Amino acid sequence: MRPLRSEPVSVREAQGRVLAEAVVSTFDLPPFDSSAMDGYALVAGESRTLDVRGESRAGRPSDAALEPGAAMRISTGAALPAGADAVVPIERAEPTEPDRVRFPAVEAGSHIRRAGEDLRTGTAVLRPGAHLDPAALGVLAALGREVVACARRPRVAIVTTGDELREPGQELLPGQIYNSNSVALAAQARAAGALVVDEAIAGDSSEQTLAALRTALSSADVVCVSGGVSVGPHDHVKQALAELGVAERFWGVRLRPGKPTWFGTTGETLVFGLPGNPVSSMVTFHLFVRPALRALQGAEPADTRTWAITDSSLERMASREQMVRCRLSAGPEGWHVEPTGEQGSHRLASMLGVGAFALVPSGKGAIAAGEWVEVELLHA
Ligand code: AMP
Ligand code: MG
Repeated sequence: MRPLRSEPVSVREAQGRVLAEAVVSTFDLPPFDSSAMDGYALVAGESRTLDVRGESRAGRPSDAALEPGAAMRISTGAALPAGADAVVPIERAEPTEPDRVRFPAVEAGSHIRRAGEDLRTGTAVLRPGAHLDPAALGVLAALGREVVACARRPRVAIVTTGDELREPGQELLPGQIYNSNSVALAAQARAAGALVVDEAIAGDSSEQTLAALRTALSSADVVCVSGGVSVGPHDHVKQALAELGVAERFWGVRLRPGKPTWFGTTGETLVFGLPGNPVSSMVTFHLFVRPALRALQGAEPADTRTWAITDSSLERMASREQMVRCRLSAGPEGWHVEPTGEQGSHRLASMLGVGAFALVPSGKGAIAAGEWVEVELLHA
């Protein structure tokens, strides 16, 4: 899939965005030689007593150079005056009378921060695709950047299907449940950098499904449909998508949970049909939709795979790969995973505290406790 075009974003508002330009430092950082300590600037040499003349403060450099045979007061971050090549910290200097101070022996370069020590002019600092975390934002600001090019946020529409669904705040009638998928999927989409532009519930009729999907397709880069993608008599999503010209790319994955996952495209728009079961919808969003949203932003889509030690044995399943929801904990040898409990795909509470999914390949037997297992981190 092709990354979306970029747009200028104020650095102050770019947290969590994906950078769409190469950032190169256009000047040395720090920009000038400066003191690393509060103290005195002087010429390196043996221990001696010197007159103290003038001062260089942070933001207010001394107009004059260091006088020969004298020292100058200097603050942390203040420019080193011309003629000085060392700094003695205040704690190591001993005033003997007003404006006369005894210094220990000091080597050239002591307590001096050199210009360009952090970033030299022309250094490649951040690449396109970089995640703008607090450190990246700080570095951009240090380089004087006010605005940077970021990938446009993918627009996501979420359509939840089911006659049983009510919104939180409404009263539940017999047989009804609250629409949790819309809230969880919207939160997952935002966490992946997307803008949620539409959230709709469609009842289980072809008319309602068509209407909701038509609106979603008109406004979004990525449409996520929850539920209605199985083979039940009240599952209308696939038919409606076909009528709306969305071409099926795949339907069904050898995965538990998530078997009925559907994917299709129309033009540049991506459509994911996610299973309705709350856990399945979150798992398949993480495995299929999140990487797509990352790729649309020009970011590395698969930055969440690693390995951990399992604290419990994990049964394989003959025909399907499993994503086992696990807590993550730190041990002396590295990360450990432990299933949060029963893995029924309707048990949404078993997603609480999940830090990773353990990937159990299909096959015979089990991955024994203490063995390493591949995991998919929920938070990169
Ligand atoms: P479906 O895929 O439509 O057959 O739904 C499978 C299961 O997920 C059913 O138990 C639904 O009630 C439940 N479900 C479907 N959509 C949602 C939703 N938006 N929020 C919570 N549960 C849902
Ligand atoms: Mg349904």
